[in-house]
Amino acid sequence: MTTAVLELSGVGKTYPAPSTVTALDGIDLVIGAGETVAITGASGAGKSTLLSILGTLERPTRGTVRIAGADVSALSDPELSDVRATRLGFVFQQFFLLEHLSVLDNVATGLLYRGVPARARRERAAEALYEVGLADRIGHRAGQLSGGERQRVAIARAIAGRPAVLLADEPTGNLDSATGAEITALLAGLADGDTTVVLITHNADVAAAMRRQVHLSDGRIVRDTGGES
Ligand code: ADP
Repeated sequence: MTTAVLELSGVGKTYPAPSTVTALDGIDLVIGAGETVAITGASGAGKSTLLSILGTLERPTRGTVRIAGADVSALSDPELSDVRATRLGFVFQQFFLLEHLSVLDNVATGLLYRGVPARARRERAAEALYEVGLADRIGHRAGQLSGGERQRVAIARAIAGRPAVLLADEPTGNLDSATGAEITALLAGLADGDTTVVLITHNADVAAAMRRQVHLSDGRIVRDTGGES
């Protein structure tokens, strides 16, 4: 198989009392470079918890998580922040743009935390905006854009740092179906450039556009079309 970028072994997540919920229960999952993966399942199945753990935003209560071969449990919080900044990109249902800033600055600002010098930030931001088809919008204010264009900006912001993995939580959830299909095609196409894409979706068409589908139920993987994990 291709190089593994994300490896989960026996991962569990239990939220403590008083409610004591087991959100994930024994997840084994290996995702290779350049894969596109849809995580599906009913509400409460554990999708968000899984994405948060893949994104190092939450730590598991048991099991191991490796990102690009490194065991994240051995990392301190500053080291984890560094992994997030250099290896991972995030896209959400809400676009989280700074409305009054230009499209270019919205994307360039995302590179601040990587210590990229100002001029290189703007160059990389422009490249990323070209990649998502927004080269002609870089001077617009984010507040002037349509929903689909806003999500393209958010994707450009996520890929400007050239992450190994793009994690997306319902990226088409706020878009009409035609715009959602365009955004889905854009995300699926990122894998051709070797970016691994893992997204949560409730939409069957979005899930089908990813090469692999992982279905969760009650915190367990009950179906995985990848078959390599
Ligand atoms: P999904 O994204 O598939 O809807 P989640 O991962 O959000 O599922 O949630 C899985 C389970 O974990 C649910 O029962 C949810 O209520 C519970 N859960 C999620 N986050 C927390 C939390 N911070 N504290 C307690 N329980 C939580």
